[in-house]
Amino acid sequence: MEGEMSQRLGQLMLLGMLLAMASATNSSLAFQGNEYLNGIPERFDETQLWRVHNMSDAMLQSIPVGQVLEEKFGGNIWKENSKFLDVSIGKEHVKAARSFLQAHRLDAEVLSDNVQSLIDQELLEGIQATQAQPGARSKKASRSGSGMHWKDYHDLETIYAFMREIRAKYPNICRLYTIGQTAEKRDLKVLRISENPREFKKVWIDGGIHAREWISPATVTFILYQLMHNWENQPAHIRGLTWYIMPVMNPDGYEYSRTTNRLWRKNRSASRRTNCFGVDLNRNFDIGWTGFGSSKDPCSDVYRGSAAASELETKAVSDFLAKRKYNLEAYLTYHSYGQMVVYPWAYKAVKVKDSSVLQRVASTAVDRIAQKTGSSYTAAVTHEVLGIAGGGSDDWSRAALGVKYVYTIELRDRGTYGFVLPPKFIKDTALEGWTVAETVAQSIG
Ligand SMILES: [Zn+2]
Repeated sequence: MEGEMSQRLGQLMLLGMLLAMASATNSSLAFQGNEYLNGIPERFDETQLWRVHNMSDAMLQSIPVGQVLEEKFGGNIWKENSKFLDVSIGKEHVKAARSFLQAHRLDAEVLSDNVQSLIDQELLEGIQATQAQPGARSKKASRSGSGMHWKDYHDLETIYAFMREIRAKYPNICRLYTIGQTAEKRDLKVLRISENPREFKKVWIDGGIHAREWISPATVTFILYQLMHNWENQPAHIRGLTWYIMPVMNPDGYEYSRTTNRLWRKNRSASRRTNCFGVDLNRNFDIGWTGFGSSKDPCSDVYRGSAAASELETKAVSDFLAKRKYNLEAYLTYHSYGQMVVYPWAYKAVKVKDSSVLQRVASTAVDRIAQKTGSSYTAAVTHEVLGIAGGGSDDWSRAALGVKYVYTIELRDRGTYGFVLPPKFIKDTALEGWTVAETVAQSIG
Protein backbone atom coordinates (compact mmCIF):
# COMPACT_ATOMS: atom_id res chain seq x y z
CA MET A 1 0.00 0.00 0.00
CA GLU A 2 2.88 2.36 0.82
CA GLY A 3 4.38 1.76 -2.58
CA GLU A 4 1.06 2.27 -4.28
CA MET A 5 0.49 5.51 -2.42
CA SER A 6 3.87 6.99 -3.26
CA GLN A 7 3.44 5.91 -6.86
CA ARG A 8 0.21 7.88 -7.05
CA LEU A 9 1.66 10.91 -5.29
CA GLY A 10 4.46 10.74 -7.82
CA GLN A 11 1.91 10.70 -10.61
CA LEU A 12 0.22 13.78 -9.23
CA MET A 13 3.54 15.62 -9.01
CA LEU A 14 4.34 14.58 -12.55
CA LEU A 15 0.99 15.94 -13.67
CA GLY A 16 1.85 19.29 -12.15
CA MET A 17 5.27 19.33 -13.79
CA LEU A 18 3.82 18.45 -17.16
CA LEU A 19 1.22 21.18 -16.84
CA ALA A 20 3.97 23.71 -16.23
CA MET A 21 6.03 22.35 -19.12
CA ALA A 22 3.04 22.24 -21.43
CA SER A 23 2.19 25.85 -20.79
CA ALA A 24 5.84 26.82 -21.34
CA THR A 25 6.40 24.92 -24.57
CA ASN A 26 2.80 24.87 -25.70
CA SER A 27 2.51 22.17 -28.34
CA SER A 28 5.56 20.00 -27.68
CA LEU A 29 3.57 17.58 -25.53
CA ALA A 30 0.69 16.97 -27.87
CA PHE A 31 0.55 13.26 -28.61
CA GLN A 32 -1.17 11.82 -31.60
CA GLY A 33 -2.75 8.44 -32.19
CA ASN A 34 -2.04 5.47 -29.99
CA GLU A 35 1.63 5.90 -29.22
CA TYR A 36 2.96 7.91 -26.32
CA LEU A 37 6.34 8.52 -24.84
CA ASN A 38 7.01 5.68 -22.49
CA GLY A 39 5.79 6.32 -18.95
CA ILE A 40 4.39 9.78 -19.53
CA PRO A 41 0.64 9.81 -19.01
CA GLU A 42 -1.46 11.10 -21.85
CA ARG A 43 -3.36 14.23 -20.92
CA PHE A 44 -6.91 15.22 -21.80
CA ASP A 45 -6.83 18.96 -21.10
CA GLU A 46 -10.02 20.56 -22.41
CA THR A 47 -11.04 17.31 -24.03
CA GLN A 48 -14.84 17.42 -24.01
CA LEU A 49 -17.18 14.56 -23.25
CA TRP A 50 -20.32 14.73 -25.36
CA ARG A 51 -23.58 12.89 -25.40
CA VAL A 52 -24.98 12.86 -28.92
CA HIS A 53 -28.74 12.38 -28.82
CA ASN A 54 -31.24 11.11 -31.37
CA MET A 55 -28.93 8.40 -32.60
CA SER A 56 -31.89 6.65 -34.21
CA ASP A 57 -32.23 9.63 -36.60
CA ALA A 58 -28.59 9.18 -37.53
CA MET A 59 -29.24 5.51 -38.18
CA LEU A 60 -32.17 6.39 -40.42
CA GLN A 61 -29.83 8.64 -42.39
CA SER A 62 -27.28 5.76 -42.45
CA ILE A 63 -24.52 7.91 -40.97
CA PRO A 64 -22.02 5.96 -38.88
CA VAL A 65 -21.66 8.86 -36.45
CA GLY A 66 -19.42 7.06 -33.95
CA GLN A 67 -17.09 5.78 -36.63
CA VAL A 68 -16.78 9.19 -38.29
CA LEU A 69 -16.09 10.93 -34.96
CA GLU A 70 -13.48 8.26 -34.15
CA GLU A 71 -11.72 8.21 -37.50
CA LYS A 72 -11.98 11.83 -38.64
CA PHE A 73 -12.01 13.74 -35.38
CA GLY A 74 -9.92 11.51 -33.12
CA GLY A 75 -12.96 10.81 -30.96
CA ASN A 76 -12.92 8.20 -28.21
CA ILE A 77 -16.22 6.37 -27.91
CA TRP A 78 -17.24 5.84 -24.29
CA LYS A 79 -20.67 4.37 -24.86
CA GLU A 80 -22.90 3.70 -27.83
CA ASN A 81 -26.48 2.46 -27.98
CA SER A 82 -29.65 2.98 -29.96
CA LYS A 83 -30.50 6.19 -28.08
CA PHE A 84 -27.24 8.07 -27.57
CA LEU A 85 -23.53 8.12 -28.12
CA ASP A 86 -21.04 9.28 -25.48
CA VAL A 87 -17.78 10.37 -27.07
CA SER A 88 -14.81 12.44 -25.96
CA ILE A 89 -13.31 14.89 -28.45
CA GLY A 90 -9.90 16.51 -28.12
CA LYS A 91 -9.75 20.31 -27.85
CA GLU A 92 -8.31 20.69 -31.37
CA HIS A 93 -11.20 18.81 -32.99
CA VAL A 94 -14.11 20.25 -31.03
CA LYS A 95 -15.10 22.88 -33.59
CA ALA A 96 -14.98 20.65 -36.65
CA ALA A 97 -16.73 17.78 -34.91
CA ARG A 98 -19.53 20.10 -33.83
CA SER A 99 -19.98 21.33 -37.41
CA PHE A 100 -20.15 17.76 -38.63
CA LEU A 101 -22.93 16.99 -36.15
CA GLN A 102 -24.82 20.18 -36.98
CA ALA A 103 -24.65 19.35 -40.68
CA HIS A 104 -26.57 16.18 -39.86
CA ARG A 105 -28.93 17.93 -37.44
CA LEU A 106 -27.53 16.11 -34.46
CA ASP A 107 -27.22 17.67 -31.07
CA ALA A 108 -24.34 17.18 -28.65
CA GLU A 109 -24.87 17.75 -24.95
CA VAL A 110 -21.61 18.57 -23.15
CA LEU A 111 -21.30 16.18 -20.20
CA SER A 112 -17.85 17.51 -19.30
CA ASP A 113 -15.78 20.30 -20.80
CA ASN A 114 -12.52 18.98 -19.38
CA VAL A 115 -11.90 15.26 -19.07
CA GLN A 116 -8.47 15.91 -17.53
CA SER A 117 -10.06 17.66 -14.56
CA LEU A 118 -12.22 14.56 -13.95
CA ILE A 119 -9.08 12.40 -14.00
CA ASP A 120 -7.13 14.76 -11.70
CA GLN A 121 -10.07 14.95 -9.29
CA GLU A 122 -10.35 11.15 -9.19
CA LEU A 123 -6.65 10.81 -8.36
CA LEU A 124 -6.65 13.54 -5.73
CA GLU A 125 -9.80 12.28 -4.03
CA GLY A 126 -8.35 8.77 -3.78
CA ILE A 127 -5.19 10.08 -2.14
CA GLN A 128 -7.15 12.23 0.30
CA ALA A 129 -9.51 9.39 1.20
CA THR A 130 -6.65 7.07 2.14
CA GLN A 131 -4.69 9.69 4.04
CA ALA A 132 -7.52 10.57 6.45
CA GLN A 133 -6.57 9.87 10.09
CA PRO A 134 -3.01 8.69 10.64
CA GLY A 135 -3.97 6.41 13.57
CA ALA A 136 -6.84 4.71 11.78
CA ARG A 137 -4.66 3.84 8.83
CA SER A 138 -2.06 1.82 10.70
CA LYS A 139 -4.81 -0.03 12.55
CA LYS A 140 -6.40 -1.04 9.25
CA ALA A 141 -3.04 -1.96 7.80
CA SER A 142 -2.35 -4.43 10.59
CA ARG A 143 -5.70 -6.10 10.00
CA SER A 144 -5.12 -6.59 6.32
CA GLY A 145 -1.63 -7.28 5.04
CA SER A 146 -2.46 -6.56 1.41
CA GLY A 147 -3.72 -3.08 2.30
CA MET A 148 -6.96 -3.71 0.43
CA HIS A 149 -9.81 -1.26 0.98
CA TRP A 150 -12.58 0.33 -1.10
CA LYS A 151 -11.78 4.02 -0.58
CA ASP A 152 -9.69 4.12 -3.73
CA TYR A 153 -8.74 2.10 -6.80
CA HIS A 154 -5.76 -0.26 -6.60
CA ASP A 155 -2.95 -1.43 -8.80
CA LEU A 156 -2.75 -5.04 -10.00
CA GLU A 157 -0.16 -6.08 -7.41
CA THR A 158 -2.38 -4.97 -4.52
CA ILE A 159 -5.31 -6.91 -5.97
CA TYR A 160 -3.18 -10.03 -6.39
CA ALA A 161 -1.78 -9.65 -2.85
CA PHE A 162 -5.37 -9.52 -1.59
CA MET A 163 -6.16 -12.78 -3.43
CA ARG A 164 -3.07 -14.44 -1.89
CA GLU A 165 -4.07 -13.17 1.52
CA ILE A 166 -7.50 -14.79 1.27
CA ARG A 167 -6.00 -18.06 0.13
CA ALA A 168 -3.58 -17.98 3.08
CA LYS A 169 -6.43 -17.35 5.49
CA TYR A 170 -8.67 -20.14 4.11
CA PRO A 171 -6.23 -22.68 2.64
CA ASN A 172 -8.74 -25.54 2.90
CA ILE A 173 -11.40 -24.00 0.71
CA CYS A 174 -9.37 -21.72 -1.55
CA ARG A 175 -7.31 -22.49 -4.56
CA LEU A 176 -5.42 -19.81 -6.46
CA TYR A 177 -4.84 -20.51 -10.16
CA THR A 178 -2.54 -18.82 -12.60
CA ILE A 179 -4.44 -19.66 -15.77
CA GLY A 180 -2.04 -18.00 -18.19
CA GLN A 181 0.04 -14.95 -18.91
CA THR A 182 -0.48 -11.79 -20.92
CA ALA A 183 1.56 -10.38 -23.82
CA GLU A 184 3.48 -8.31 -21.26
CA LYS A 185 4.01 -11.42 -19.09
CA ARG A 186 1.64 -10.59 -16.28
CA ASP A 187 -0.13 -13.49 -14.59
CA LEU A 188 -3.82 -14.13 -15.12
CA LYS A 189 -5.20 -15.12 -11.73
CA VAL A 190 -8.39 -16.84 -10.65
CA LEU A 191 -9.37 -17.67 -7.08
CA ARG A 192 -11.65 -20.64 -6.44
CA ILE A 193 -13.64 -20.85 -3.22
CA SER A 194 -15.41 -24.11 -2.50
CA GLU A 195 -16.13 -26.56 0.27
CA ASN A 196 -16.84 -29.25 -2.31
CA PRO A 197 -15.46 -28.51 -5.77
CA ARG A 198 -16.50 -31.88 -7.22
CA GLU A 199 -20.18 -31.61 -6.42
CA PHE A 200 -21.22 -28.01 -5.89
CA LYS A 201 -22.71 -25.91 -8.66
CA LYS A 202 -20.35 -23.27 -10.00
CA VAL A 203 -20.47 -19.51 -10.40
CA TRP A 204 -17.89 -17.57 -12.42
CA ILE A 205 -17.33 -13.87 -11.78
CA ASP A 206 -14.95 -11.66 -13.72
CA GLY A 207 -14.00 -8.02 -13.92
CA GLY A 208 -11.64 -5.73 -15.73
CA ILE A 209 -12.14 -7.01 -19.29
CA HIS A 210 -12.07 -3.37 -20.32
CA ALA A 211 -9.08 -1.55 -18.85
CA ARG A 212 -10.62 1.86 -18.12
CA GLU A 213 -13.64 0.49 -16.24
CA TRP A 214 -11.84 0.68 -12.89
CA ILE A 215 -15.00 0.25 -10.85
CA SER A 216 -15.23 -3.31 -12.18
CA PRO A 217 -12.11 -4.83 -10.51
CA ALA A 218 -12.96 -2.77 -7.42
CA THR A 219 -16.42 -4.36 -7.34
CA VAL A 220 -15.17 -7.90 -7.95
CA THR A 221 -12.61 -7.63 -5.13
CA PHE A 222 -15.42 -6.33 -2.92
CA ILE A 223 -17.53 -9.38 -3.82
CA LEU A 224 -14.59 -11.54 -2.79
CA TYR A 225 -14.43 -9.67 0.50
CA GLN A 226 -18.19 -9.99 1.07
CA LEU A 227 -17.97 -13.72 0.52
CA MET A 228 -14.92 -14.36 2.67
CA HIS A 229 -14.87 -11.97 5.61
CA ASN A 230 -17.75 -13.88 7.15
CA TRP A 231 -17.64 -17.20 5.31
CA GLU A 232 -18.64 -19.38 8.28
CA ASN A 233 -21.89 -17.48 8.70
CA GLN A 234 -22.87 -17.29 5.05
CA PRO A 235 -26.24 -18.82 4.16
CA ALA A 236 -26.38 -22.22 2.49
CA HIS A 237 -27.05 -20.78 -0.97
CA ILE A 238 -23.66 -19.01 -0.78
CA ARG A 239 -21.60 -21.65 1.00
CA GLY A 240 -23.08 -24.40 -1.12
CA LEU A 241 -21.60 -23.06 -4.35
CA THR A 242 -18.17 -23.14 -5.95
CA TRP A 243 -17.07 -19.58 -6.73
CA TYR A 244 -14.50 -18.75 -9.40
CA ILE A 245 -13.35 -15.15 -9.14
CA MET A 246 -11.15 -13.29 -11.62
CA PRO A 247 -10.98 -9.60 -10.67
CA VAL A 248 -8.80 -8.52 -13.61
CA MET A 249 -9.11 -10.31 -16.94
CA ASN A 250 -7.02 -7.67 -18.72
CA PRO A 251 -4.04 -6.88 -16.46
CA ASP A 252 -1.88 -5.28 -19.19
CA GLY A 253 -4.64 -2.90 -20.20
CA TYR A 254 -5.49 -2.13 -16.57
CA GLU A 255 -1.92 -1.18 -15.68
CA TYR A 256 -1.63 0.82 -18.90
CA SER A 257 -4.77 2.75 -18.00
CA ARG A 258 -3.25 3.48 -14.58
CA THR A 259 0.15 4.63 -15.80
CA THR A 260 -0.27 5.97 -19.30
CA ASN A 261 -3.76 6.42 -20.72
CA ARG A 262 -6.73 6.62 -18.36
CA LEU A 263 -9.14 5.99 -21.23
CA TRP A 264 -7.50 2.80 -22.55
CA ARG A 265 -10.00 -0.01 -23.24
CA LYS A 266 -8.27 -2.95 -24.97
CA ASN A 267 -5.44 -5.28 -24.01
CA ARG A 268 -1.86 -4.42 -25.08
CA SER A 269 -0.97 -6.99 -27.70
CA ALA A 270 0.94 -5.71 -30.73
CA SER A 271 -0.65 -5.79 -34.15
CA ARG A 272 1.32 -7.26 -37.05
CA ARG A 273 -0.13 -4.94 -39.66
CA THR A 274 -0.06 -1.56 -37.93
CA ASN A 275 1.54 0.40 -35.11
CA CYS A 276 -1.67 0.27 -33.11
CA PHE A 277 -1.94 -1.82 -29.98
CA GLY A 278 -4.65 -3.86 -28.39
CA VAL A 279 -7.66 -6.06 -29.01
CA ASP A 280 -11.07 -5.54 -27.44
CA LEU A 281 -11.28 -8.75 -25.42
CA ASN A 282 -15.05 -8.50 -25.26
CA ARG A 283 -15.18 -8.75 -29.06
CA ASN A 284 -12.64 -11.59 -29.22
CA PHE A 285 -14.65 -14.55 -27.90
CA ASP A 286 -15.75 -17.23 -30.33
CA ILE A 287 -19.38 -16.25 -30.80
CA GLY A 288 -20.68 -14.10 -33.66
CA TRP A 289 -17.07 -13.04 -34.02
CA THR A 290 -17.28 -11.50 -37.51
CA GLY A 291 -20.67 -9.95 -36.88
CA PHE A 292 -21.86 -6.49 -35.94
CA GLY A 293 -20.44 -4.22 -33.27
CA SER A 294 -16.76 -4.90 -33.77
CA SER A 295 -14.04 -3.76 -36.14
CA LYS A 296 -11.35 -5.44 -38.20
CA ASP A 297 -9.19 -2.33 -37.93
CA PRO A 298 -6.43 -2.83 -35.31
CA CYS A 299 -6.54 0.89 -34.51
CA SER A 300 -10.22 0.79 -33.54
CA ASP A 301 -11.22 0.62 -29.89
CA VAL A 302 -13.50 -2.31 -30.72
CA TYR A 303 -10.91 -4.27 -32.74
CA ARG A 304 -11.96 -7.92 -32.64
CA GLY A 305 -8.46 -9.39 -33.14
CA SER A 306 -6.97 -11.47 -35.97
CA ALA A 307 -9.09 -14.53 -35.12
CA ALA A 308 -11.61 -15.64 -32.52
CA ALA A 309 -9.80 -16.22 -29.20
CA SER A 310 -6.58 -14.89 -30.75
CA GLU A 311 -5.72 -13.20 -27.47
CA LEU A 312 -3.91 -14.86 -24.57
CA GLU A 313 -6.50 -13.61 -22.07
CA THR A 314 -9.47 -14.86 -24.11
CA LYS A 315 -7.81 -18.20 -24.77
CA ALA A 316 -6.85 -18.73 -21.11
CA VAL A 317 -10.37 -17.97 -19.85
CA SER A 318 -12.09 -19.99 -22.61
CA ASP A 319 -9.90 -23.05 -22.00
CA PHE A 320 -10.20 -22.82 -18.22
CA LEU A 321 -13.99 -22.59 -18.33
CA ALA A 322 -14.47 -25.18 -21.07
CA LYS A 323 -12.78 -27.72 -18.79
CA ARG A 324 -15.11 -26.78 -15.95
CA LYS A 325 -18.42 -26.42 -17.74
CA TYR A 326 -19.99 -29.30 -15.82
CA ASN A 327 -22.23 -27.73 -13.16
CA LEU A 328 -21.36 -24.21 -14.30
CA GLU A 329 -24.61 -22.39 -13.56
CA ALA A 330 -23.73 -18.70 -13.68
CA TYR A 331 -21.42 -16.39 -15.60
CA LEU A 332 -21.29 -12.84 -14.24
CA THR A 333 -19.13 -10.20 -15.90
CA TYR A 334 -18.78 -6.69 -14.51
CA HIS A 335 -18.38 -3.62 -16.70
CA SER A 336 -19.15 0.07 -16.56
CA TYR A 337 -21.01 2.29 -17.10
CA GLY A 338 -24.81 2.63 -17.55
CA GLN A 339 -26.42 0.93 -14.50
CA MET A 340 -27.85 -2.14 -16.19
CA VAL A 341 -28.19 -5.86 -15.64
CA VAL A 342 -28.42 -7.45 -19.09
CA TYR A 343 -28.59 -10.98 -20.46
CA PRO A 344 -28.18 -12.74 -23.87
CA TRP A 345 -28.17 -12.34 -26.65
CA ALA A 346 -25.86 -9.52 -27.61
CA TYR A 347 -24.69 -10.87 -30.96
CA LYS A 348 -28.15 -11.21 -32.47
CA ALA A 349 -31.54 -9.60 -31.92
CA VAL A 350 -33.07 -12.73 -30.44
CA LYS A 351 -34.00 -13.64 -26.88
CA VAL A 352 -32.87 -16.90 -25.28
CA LYS A 353 -35.73 -19.35 -24.76
CA ASP A 354 -35.65 -18.99 -20.96
CA SER A 355 -35.40 -15.20 -21.11
CA SER A 356 -38.39 -14.76 -18.81
CA VAL A 357 -36.45 -16.50 -16.01
CA LEU A 358 -33.39 -14.35 -16.66
CA GLN A 359 -35.53 -11.22 -16.72
CA ARG A 360 -37.18 -12.13 -13.42
CA VAL A 361 -33.88 -12.70 -11.59
CA ALA A 362 -32.42 -9.49 -13.04
CA SER A 363 -35.50 -7.54 -11.97
CA THR A 364 -35.24 -8.92 -8.44
CA ALA A 365 -31.59 -7.81 -8.28
CA VAL A 366 -32.52 -4.37 -9.59
CA ASP A 367 -35.30 -3.98 -7.00
CA ARG A 368 -32.93 -4.96 -4.20
CA ILE A 369 -30.33 -2.47 -5.40
CA ALA A 370 -32.93 0.30 -5.30
CA GLN A 371 -33.78 -0.63 -1.71
CA LYS A 372 -30.15 -0.82 -0.60
CA THR A 373 -28.54 2.23 -2.17
CA GLY A 374 -31.34 4.05 -3.97
CA SER A 375 -29.66 3.63 -7.37
CA SER A 376 -31.82 2.86 -10.33
CA TYR A 377 -30.63 0.05 -12.61
CA THR A 378 -32.33 -1.36 -15.69
CA ALA A 379 -32.93 -5.08 -16.29
CA ALA A 380 -33.12 -5.96 -19.99
CA VAL A 381 -31.97 -8.06 -22.93
CA THR A 382 -28.55 -6.89 -24.09
CA HIS A 383 -29.25 -6.23 -27.77
CA GLU A 384 -32.25 -4.07 -26.94
CA VAL A 385 -30.41 -1.62 -24.72
CA LEU A 386 -26.78 -1.83 -25.81
CA GLY A 387 -27.15 -2.68 -29.49
CA ILE A 388 -25.84 -5.75 -31.29
CA ALA A 389 -22.23 -6.82 -30.71
CA GLY A 390 -20.51 -10.13 -31.40
CA GLY A 391 -17.55 -11.76 -29.64
CA GLY A 392 -18.69 -11.08 -26.06
CA SER A 393 -17.72 -13.33 -23.17
CA ASP A 394 -21.32 -13.42 -21.91
CA ASP A 395 -22.81 -14.79 -25.14
CA TRP A 396 -19.91 -17.23 -25.46
CA SER A 397 -20.54 -18.70 -22.01
CA ARG A 398 -24.17 -19.35 -22.94
CA ALA A 399 -23.57 -20.61 -26.49
CA ALA A 400 -20.42 -22.67 -25.94
CA LEU A 401 -20.89 -23.84 -22.36
CA GLY A 402 -24.64 -23.77 -21.90
CA VAL A 403 -24.51 -21.60 -18.76
CA LYS A 404 -27.97 -20.61 -17.60
CA TYR A 405 -27.58 -17.42 -15.56
CA VAL A 406 -25.50 -15.19 -17.82
CA TYR A 407 -25.38 -11.54 -16.88
CA THR A 408 -23.37 -8.51 -17.82
CA ILE A 409 -23.57 -5.90 -15.11
CA GLU A 410 -22.96 -2.32 -16.21
CA LEU A 411 -22.09 -0.55 -12.96
CA ARG A 412 -22.31 3.17 -12.18
CA ASP A 413 -22.84 5.75 -13.31
CA ARG A 414 -25.18 6.95 -16.08
CA GLY A 415 -22.72 9.33 -17.67
CA THR A 416 -21.88 12.10 -15.20
CA TYR A 417 -18.35 10.78 -14.68
CA GLY A 418 -18.48 7.72 -16.91
CA PHE A 419 -15.36 5.62 -16.48
CA VAL A 420 -13.77 8.19 -14.18
CA LEU A 421 -16.06 7.44 -11.25
CA PRO A 422 -14.85 9.28 -8.11
CA PRO A 423 -13.56 6.93 -5.37
CA LYS A 424 -16.26 8.05 -2.92
CA PHE A 425 -18.77 6.04 -5.00
CA ILE A 426 -16.79 2.77 -4.94
CA LYS A 427 -18.35 1.24 -1.83
CA ASP A 428 -22.00 1.72 -2.75
CA THR A 429 -21.41 0.72 -6.36
CA ALA A 430 -19.58 -2.42 -5.24
CA LEU A 431 -22.48 -3.20 -2.92
CA GLU A 432 -24.77 -3.01 -5.95
CA GLY A 433 -22.51 -5.47 -7.77
CA TRP A 434 -22.56 -7.81 -4.78
CA THR A 435 -26.35 -7.60 -4.67
CA VAL A 436 -26.54 -9.02 -8.20
CA ALA A 437 -24.17 -11.89 -7.32
CA GLU A 438 -26.13 -12.66 -4.16
CA THR A 439 -29.46 -12.66 -6.00
CA VAL A 440 -28.16 -14.98 -8.70
CA ALA A 441 -26.70 -17.34 -6.08
CA GLN A 442 -30.07 -17.50 -4.38
CA SER A 443 -31.80 -18.31 -7.67
CA ILE A 444 -29.46 -21.24 -8.32
CA GLY A 445 -30.57 -22.60 -4.95
ZN1 LIG B 1 -16.84 -2.88 -20.65
